[in-house]
Amino acid sequence: MQSKATLNAPAAPSIEFSQLNKLIQKQREFFNSQATFNLSFRKEQLRCLLSLIKQNEQVIGNALYEDFRKPVFETFITEVGFVEQELKETLRHLTEWAKPRSVNESLFNFPASSATYPEPYGLVFIIGPWNYPLQLVLSPLIGAMAAGNCAIIKPSELTANTSAVIAELIRKNFDEAYLAVVEGGMDTTQHLLQKRFDYIFFTGTPQVGRLVMKAAAEHLTPLTLELGGKSPAIVTEDADLELAARRIVWGKFLNAGQTCVAPDYVLVQEQVKEEFVMFLEQNITAFYGADPAISPDFARIIDDRNFRRLNNLLTKDNIRFGGQTDRDQRYIAPTILDNVTWTHPSMQAEIFGPILPVLSYCSLKDAIKTVNSQETPLALYFFSSDHQKQQCILQKAHFGGGCINDTMSHFVNPNLPFGGVGHSGFGSYHGRASFDLFSHHKSVLHRGTWLDLPLRYPPYKDHLSLVKKILVVV
Ligand code: NAD
Repeated sequence: MQSKATLNAPAAPSIEFSQLNKLIQKQREFFNSQATFNLSFRKEQLRCLLSLIKQNEQVIGNALYEDFRKPVFETFITEVGFVEQELKETLRHLTEWAKPRSVNESLFNFPASSATYPEPYGLVFIIGPWNYPLQLVLSPLIGAMAAGNCAIIKPSELTANTSAVIAELIRKNFDEAYLAVVEGGMDTTQHLLQKRFDYIFFTGTPQVGRLVMKAAAEHLTPLTLELGGKSPAIVTEDADLELAARRIVWGKFLNAGQTCVAPDYVLVQEQVKEEFVMFLEQNITAFYGADPAISPDFARIIDDRNFRRLNNLLTKDNIRFGGQTDRDQRYIAPTILDNVTWTHPSMQAEIFGPILPVLSYCSLKDAIKTVNSQETPLALYFFSSDHQKQQCILQKAHFGGGCINDTMSHFVNPNLPFGGVGHSGFGSYHGRASFDLFSHHKSVLHRGTWLDLPLRYPPYKDHLSLVKKILVVV
């Protein structure tokens, strides 16, 4: 393994644009053959993906290390292991998820029964970001495959090594008429977005999400946007401060802070701020040592543009802890910023790096007001031992999802649909929610032929009074 993150290679499209129409046509024909409608086919393909991921754990780990020196342990828990768990969960429950779902019947339809029938959309286009380059294309892909779709994946060009591994694994093991990876940069995505797909799944920034949504509108293609934002961690005076600090430091500095659900900033109750910051500092040192630059457990910034962007947030007067940088290594130390206000550059946009501003608040009411006055965050983390305060946050603060007394762990539970709201996106996935997201749920009423009540047919005569009487009962 190299000691330094390699520079990101320029993103050349892996396929001539002129060939894309052919690829899409092939997938269309394969989908129309209805081979993917067969549950055994879907399971076989999912099992194939599972064994590929298991066999290539080390290759994937090396690629992520080359891309931004991601520690092997973090690669396992957040990428390889996560995808494996998602695959196993899907294989375990797919038969059940794919069954028609009966629903209660309306009295007006008597006698009849109704059910929804999940069916695949068709061709799915999955666009991935760089920060969890394997998980964030394969996790939606698992849902798309489980639901019986064909798919084209466009991984991020910024993690060129991981992207190449994904492309090779898929190309060598799946028919491109079923699954294909197209590598390349924004031109490639824009070109693909002009084509007609049946579902688009995008993970990335709100700015690019807007472009994707405009392109989808051209073909009236349904889509999911998994976006980012500034996710707060709120710490109250009655919280276990040491534990809160440890869990926030873990959530913030994993992947060097380049996580969509990382706590972006902390709002801590004024009277416990100093003690809490002391615990933050102690935990950073306990995790990464006195010099995190030599820690094997701390990743690098993905590229020079993001390094420069983050460097600009490190205003000298606000650095309370850390702040060291190394441009050649694209290293930024785990950093705490103090005395920042909402006009500070770190509070103007999602940080997406190892920099943690700590702001204080007087009352919980003020903290909630502050959070609700910003764009709705993807996540919110609340640290308090007071049940009433926990309920208050759940009822009054707006956010995509989150944790009480922890950070990021809600993401891991396949039974919790994951997604944003407002500027952090829409649509949610993981586990059964992924299967549902990539399925159209065809609603069908079944009517017998043995009875045909005349109530709805003209001439209506006194039918209205009868209908009103029924309405009183139902
Ligand atoms: P990005 O929006 O820059 O890029 C995402 C994808 O879009 C890449 O594949 C890229 O090639 C493509 N792209 C970039 N610019 C484009 C353009 N002009 N036209 C068409 N395609 C374009 O995002 P990123 O920097 O890769 O990822 C970081 C962002 O993603 C953060 O905001 C983070 O919060 C968010 N994110 C969200 C989630 C989630 O689950 N909600 C997960 C991870 C990351």
